[in-house]
Amino acid sequence: GLYERVAPERTLELIRKYDLEINKSLGQNFLRDRSVLEKAVEAADLSEKDRVIEIGPGLGALTGFILKHLAGGEVLAVEKDEKLSGILDELLGEDPALEIMTADALELDWSEVISKRDFDRGYKLMANLPYYITSPLIRTFLEADMAPDLMVLMVQKEVAERITAEPGGGDYGILSIAVQFYCRPEIIEIVPPDFFMPEPDVCSALIRLNMSSEPRYRVSDREFFFRTVRAMFGQRRKMLRNSLSGSPELPADKEQAKKALTAAGIDERLRGEKLSIEEVIKLSEELKSILN
Ligand code: SAM
Repeated sequence: GLYERVAPERTLELIRKYDLEINKSLGQNFLRDRSVLEKAVEAADLSEKDRVIEIGPGLGALTGFILKHLAGGEVLAVEKDEKLSGILDELLGEDPALEIMTADALELDWSEVISKRDFDRGYKLMANLPYYITSPLIRTFLEADMAPDLMVLMVQKEVAERITAEPGGGDYGILSIAVQFYCRPEIIEIVPPDFFMPEPDVCSALIRLNMSSEPRYRVSDREFFFRTVRAMFGQRRKMLRNSLSGSPELPADKEQAKKALTAAGIDERLRGEKLSIEEVIKLSEELKSILN
């Protein structure tokens, strides 16, 4: 069938056939392993009518697996590399469920893209991400008015560990809080370099970000909350009373920082990496009222 053309086992053949020059700066590492694609579609819990946005479809290995599970659903695949989107069109373009868009995922007006289709009724985001766009892209979709119902993403293993980190360890920081503020992230599987062609220098991880329709946390001022987070981790080796008062993110002096910490019931000598999201929220609310 159609999807056999983009089977992961054919990656090398396709690279040769189209005389592809791999663009490393676009993070082009194509999946050649079937098991991880099966896990990805399983993790996305696809049903026939689903609408899916895929970022960076490349040679279509994941795209084909997604399309196989749909009947009446749609995939919007956004690829920056014109040559690749042309190849994908040649391989899968006859499938009416697939729309290929040649664009930079970081530059797109996503709210327009989503509302122009019927994706605002709900959609899933799937991607084997080029690693240089992981953080900004995840942020864009977490903060979007029309956030996806869930995301299944391949990211660098080390980034997956930071995203899912719990308070107390060295991996816990701005990225953990920025993601966990909006969703429950989980690692589905660690993926070794030889599952890709060419092989990346690092291990990867398949992750799922479980979104909920209600916000997970409430804050009075989201912008101020994230300034507090950046201050806490800007100098992460410092005790909170110092990191909070010595930061360009916040106009607090040491006395104000101490006062907020006391009011929030947090030991001023702790480091930021010890605080749960609930505690950071409490702290930022206290800081905000002291600074106002
Ligand atoms: N999905 C394919 C797979 O799993 O085999 C390819 C994944 S590869 C890691 C990343 C893909 O994203 C490449 O096809 C690359 O050209 C594309 N890409 C890189 N930067 C992009 C951007 N800013 N916007 C959209 N696509 C991008």
